[in-house]
Amino acid sequence: MLYLSTRGHPDRKHFCEILLEGLAPDGGLYLPERYPQVEPATLERWRTVFNGGAPGGYAALAFEILSLYVDDIPAADLKSICDKTYTETVYGTPQIVPLKQLEDGFYLEALSNGPTLAFKDMAMQLLGNLFEYQLARRGEELNILGATSGDTGSAAEYAMRGKKGVRVFMLSPHGRMSPFQQAQMFSLMDDNIHNIAIEGVFDDCQDIVKNVSNDLEFKRNYKIGTVNSINWARLLAQVVYYFAGYFQATASDTQKVSFAVPSGNFGNVCAGHVARQMGLPIAQLVVATNENDVLDEFFRTGVYRVRASADTHETSSPSMDISKASNFERFVFDLVGRDGARVKALFGETLYREGRFDLGSDPVFAEAASHYGFVSGKSTHADRLATIRDTFARFGVMIDTHTADGVKVAREHHNPELPMIVLETALPIKFAETIVEALGREPERPAKFEGMESLPKRVLVMPADTAAVQAYIADHCPRA
Ligand SMILES: *Cc1c(COP(=O)(O)O)cnc(C)c1O
Repeated sequence: MLYLSTRGHPDRKHFCEILLEGLAPDGGLYLPERYPQVEPATLERWRTVFNGGAPGGYAALAFEILSLYVDDIPAADLKSICDKTYTETVYGTPQIVPLKQLEDGFYLEALSNGPTLAFKDMAMQLLGNLFEYQLARRGEELNILGATSGDTGSAAEYAMRGKKGVRVFMLSPHGRMSPFQQAQMFSLMDDNIHNIAIEGVFDDCQDIVKNVSNDLEFKRNYKIGTVNSINWARLLAQVVYYFAGYFQATASDTQKVSFAVPSGNFGNVCAGHVARQMGLPIAQLVVATNENDVLDEFFRTGVYRVRASADTHETSSPSMDISKASNFERFVFDLVGRDGARVKALFGETLYREGRFDLGSDPVFAEAASHYGFVSGKSTHADRLATIRDTFARFGVMIDTHTADGVKVAREHHNPELPMIVLETALPIKFAETIVEALGREPERPAKFEGMESLPKRVLVMPADTAAVQAYIADHCPRA
């Protein structure tokens, strides 16, 4: 299996060559040359492999799926990487992604039982083990520099803590994360994890990361890398739980299901698109956005319009507060018939120049729904409160704000003939303030997080100054 760039670059690469990379050299995103097709016999065998989520089933399924995309890691090694990633110890349950029925034909798939209680663990935990393996094989080291307002940073730190050959330098806006999120990150005492609280907002953190990445000499000398959501391995890891959700919701491979996905950067639902292209019987992929409705606007009108920072709303489902959807280019590449020159013109030129492009009058736009199964909807703060209340009152289940966006939009598209699976992307404890607003009570807290806010913290506060961050990195890692 070889990978290409969505912008038409002629190079083709193997999985491990793109594992530690971000964008392709032409600014495009990596995708496989073709999607492996899962024949009915294979789907039937995978159902047996997953075995209803019996111990080891999820890891074995992950190995089957990854094997189709990874041809430069020996099978035995890939198998042991999957086995050590998806364990009951890490996820607290043998099924790893258990399905909860809310009512007939309407389910939640729990993706937030990992160490940081958000779905990003599903991919990041695998990435940690893949990075450690690949760096050891190459005799190299990597310094991961990232900016976070919450979920991504903590998922990256819990995935990379204690890993050989990897250091993490994570920038976050000083005093702006929830107490729970701060405690999660800053209580890590591992030598290879560096928390830097920047005196500024999230955009300041992101600007510093961009400045450092643009300093090519520094980047090379200090082996700077990232783990952002455009990483192909992260997306691939997410494909697995669409299959696992399907097997739990159906008794036979002739049935279809739909998935509803709380969306921001389009990483999660893009994995659903990949699963569907492989042949998983998915009827619809329901994209749910919050007030930051870049994606809903596209699927309704064909207009993709990036928002300015000033037009990006701070909402109570903050992990979906995006101004543009970084992974969206992958889907558009498929939508326009894998025409790299067209994608380059749309994303590299029109979008860059005008901040928008419009496929509304192009015949391919209709295929987003008719051929690829995409539909969408939007949810607001009031919708979240109402959905959290309704779900708790009727089913006794507490859901977080992001999952509430998913449930709200899923209901608008639910066809009673077809099971609807809403991806639960975080646990309510991470967003306690809104739960209290909705329900007048604190969310349940998993036992292992009891008293976490009073643990000692390790964090360095720094001004929003690129040179200062570079000096800190230089002080804390040997020069290559
Ligand atoms: C990151 C995140 C999302 C959005 O996922 P994308 O892959 O960016 O679309 C939704 N919910 C939660 C809780 C998240 O952390």
